[in-house]
Amino acid sequence: MSATLGTLLRELQPDWKVVAFERLGDVAEESSNAWNNAGTGHAALCELNYMPEGKDGALDPAKAIGINEQFQLSRQLWSTLVDRGVLDAPTTFINSTPHMTFVRGQKDVDYLRHRYEVLK
Ligand SMILES: Cc1cc2nc3c(=O)[nH]c(=O)nc-3n(C[C@H](O)[C@H](O)[C@H](O)COP(=O)(O)OP(=O)(O)OC[C@H]3O[C@@H](n4cnc5c(N)ncnc54)[C@H](O)[C@@H]3O)c2cc1C
Repeated sequence: MSATLGTLLRELQPDWKVVAFERLGDVAEESSNAWNNAGTGHAALCELNYMPEGKDGALDPAKAIGINEQFQLSRQLWSTLVDRGVLDAPTTFINSTPHMTFVRGQKDVDYLRHRYEVLK
């Protein structure tokens, strides 16, 4: 079970007792283990797969914007949990870095410029 799901259930139903069983030696050693994921917050600013080019070359930002809004909601949740002392200082789990996307070839450079203009 996701720790976030457990946290949300706890917020919604504080009277429920939530018990998590972990099959590995420590909690969240699978996907959440830092060596098993990229470690980027998916804000959809640099994840190009959230905004594929349509057949006619059109770029629809709807999915990227939706993902970005979800990321902002996540930040609100973490912020609340930090304020309440449930989570440690933000720097222990989230840090800002510049968003960078690297592409090669004129076609992909054109795509990236177009994407930037649409999202801007
Ligand atoms: C290669 C990769 C790259 C990723 N990159 C990113 C990224 O850059 N940014 C991002 O936001 N997300 C990324 N993700 C997704 C993110 O890592 C996961 O969505 C998140 O860690 C899931 O957390 P979780 O607590 O739900 O699952 P987990 O951390 O996997 O925890 C589930 C736990 O349940 C345990 N478990 C499973 N079955 C049982 C059972 N039957 N009994 C007892 N215990 C059990 C597992 O051992 C595990 O420890 C990536 C995922 C992968 C795989």
